[in-house]
Amino acid sequence: MLRRMDYGDWDVIVTFLSLNMGKVAAIAKSAKKSTRRFGGVLELFSALDIVIGIGRKKGLPVLQEASIVHPFSKIRSDIYKTAYASYWAEVVNDWMEEGERAKDVYDLLFHALNSLNDGDVSQEALSILFQMRFLMITGFTPNLEYCVICQREVDDMDSKDLGFDLSKGGLVCGRCESGNSRQIRLQKGTIKQLQWIKRGGIRQASRIRFAPQALTEGSRLLEAFGPYHLGKKPRSLTFLQQIRK
Ligand SMILES: [Zn+2]
Repeated sequence: MLRRMDYGDWDVIVTFLSLNMGKVAAIAKSAKKSTRRFGGVLELFSALDIVIGIGRKKGLPVLQEASIVHPFSKIRSDIYKTAYASYWAEVVNDWMEEGERAKDVYDLLFHALNSLNDGDVSQEALSILFQMRFLMITGFTPNLEYCVICQREVDDMDSKDLGFDLSKGGLVCGRCESGNSRQIRLQKGTIKQLQWIKRGGIRQASRIRFAPQALTEGSRLLEAFGPYHLGKKPRSLTFLQQIRK
């Protein structure tokens, strides 16, 4: 469940990322008034089995049944976990079109929320993993292999750190550098760790032990790169960055 919005005095509009239908919004009638109807089930970030009635000519489909598959309740009792989950959910909600099937995104979000709930991987590392894989799925993979201008490969460069140009979507070597690429710097070690995330599956990638420097630089890169291509900064990302300070 990505989003929950009160609607009138009794109803709630909920937005889900579903396995079969992609993003779907539905109206949960009387969800506010009667606790019996959906009692405690419609909680943000939880994984649910839902039945919705489609085919109504006017208005949103109606949520008919909802039962919990995984409550992910440890996320909602922790402000940092909630902030990360809100950011990921907002990114998915903003980027996905309704009805566009999105099994890869579903699997990624489920894995990220599950790990966040369990607390077995650092939250910053999980967020780097989520953002990188999400960019890959949606076709905005940052280029971390070679200079976007002269095509020279990272392994052939001597400098310890490289610039990243958001507008060109990739690394820029020392020779090709201009004003744009001086703002985001990445150590070679960070670049290597980000490359591993691109190559392996989600589960292998979660086992990467990030160096503190790589966490800082990787977060800075991806939290600038995503909004740059999205065309706006998610509000929940601003909140996340404020509480993390
Ligand atoms: Zn170059």
